[in-house]
Amino acid sequence: MNIRKLRDFVVAMTRLANAVSSGPPLMEAAKPLLGGLVATDDWLPEGCAAHDDRYYRQYLLHCDPLERFSLVSFVWGPGQKTPIHDHRVWGLIGVLRGAEIATRYMRQPTGSLAKVGESARLEPGDVDAVAPEIGDIHQVANAYRDRVSISIHVYGGNIGAVSRGVYDLQGKEKPFISGYSSDDIPNLWDRSREAG
Ligand code: FE
Repeated sequence: MNIRKLRDFVVAMTRLANAVSSGPPLMEAAKPLLGGLVATDDWLPEGCAAHDDRYYRQYLLHCDPLERFSLVSFVWGPGQKTPIHDHRVWGLIGVLRGAEIATRYMRQPTGSLAKVGESARLEPGDVDAVAPEIGDIHQVANAYRDRVSISIHVYGGNIGAVSRGVYDLQGKEKPFISGYSSDDIPNLWDRSREAG
């Protein structure tokens, strides 16, 4: 396991947050960084890759001290999916392992939700985006019924603490704050076991 890749991402993302204005510009700048992180599957700590038979899990990997961004590993057990939900901040979804089906929704004048286009299948290395400016409501599902899938998400805030909504197809909104699945976060800073 190469924790250095995760640390390098956090350092680079922190530099970006200092250099680029928050919102869509930071999201665009973060895309290639996340693409690089999910290009290889050799760095995610095992504790942040564990699935649960009942619910998908969301492990905080890092939260910027100024809460300008957070990095989370989502672990989907076989057949698991999110409810339809929004984010209220930008979000990038990079698939690390397995595959996912992402379905977008838009609120119609009647108030109900309608699917936007076809569902997209995301394979390892692919990066998808959601944001209030480009469409913020979606549902994500494990594409597999017989194996775990994992995606790495970057958000433009401390996503576990953001007040947001889950929806039914009639458009009825239920407020929620997701929190995180674990109190532990990876130790990025013990360099003693790294070569060079
Ligand atoms: Fe989402």
